[in-house]
Amino acid sequence: PEFAQDLKASVRAIPDYPKPGIIFRDITTLLGEPRAFRRAIDELVQSWAGSKIDKVAGIEARGFIIGGAIAHQVSSGFVPIRKKGKLPHTCVSMEYALEYGTDKIEVHVDAITPGERVILVDDLIATGGTAEGAIKLLRQIGAEVVAACFVIDLPELGGAAKIRAMGVPVRTLVAFE
Ligand code: IMP
Repeated sequence: PEFAQDLKASVRAIPDYPKPGIIFRDITTLLGEPRAFRRAIDELVQSWAGSKIDKVAGIEARGFIIGGAIAHQVSSGFVPIRKKGKLPHTCVSMEYALEYGTDKIEVHVDAITPGERVILVDDLIATGGTAEGAIKLLRQIGAEVVAACFVIDLPELGGAAKIRAMGVPVRTLVAFE
């Protein structure tokens, strides 16, 4: 669709960041364009129009920006999923796979009331390791993860397929090879 072309054009490519050979997809340019930012949020929100969402869970840090806007739009609560050691109250943590090694993400143990319908949000899905860890974390505290959404998909890395295989529908707006 046309909006996807416009959104794609508003994402900046940073060559060799954070390492040589990597093209980093930078959404700060999309966030800085009022029409692009609004359109991205509107398109993501439309995917589950009419179904009740209790919480949006956003992954630090760009998932906070996208997820906060979505939560406002669907009148849900917002739950931050953070890198280890950042949240002040008792946490549940989950190790997840990085390209080399592992890291940990955390969520407050009482962030979700068991059975609540939750949407997971981040800016981009690559291998899906981060989102997989976040879904396990949310399920561990009783969430029903009803969808995961991302502005950008890197389909060659297989992340969206991995998340769908966990039984979670995935919505993405633009793809880069
Ligand atoms: P994954 O776990 O391999 O799917 O990587 C996704 C996570 O890494 C997300 O939290 C993204 O914000 C971040 N990430 C990986 N590559 C990029 C990129 O090119 N641009 C922005 N974020 C990225």
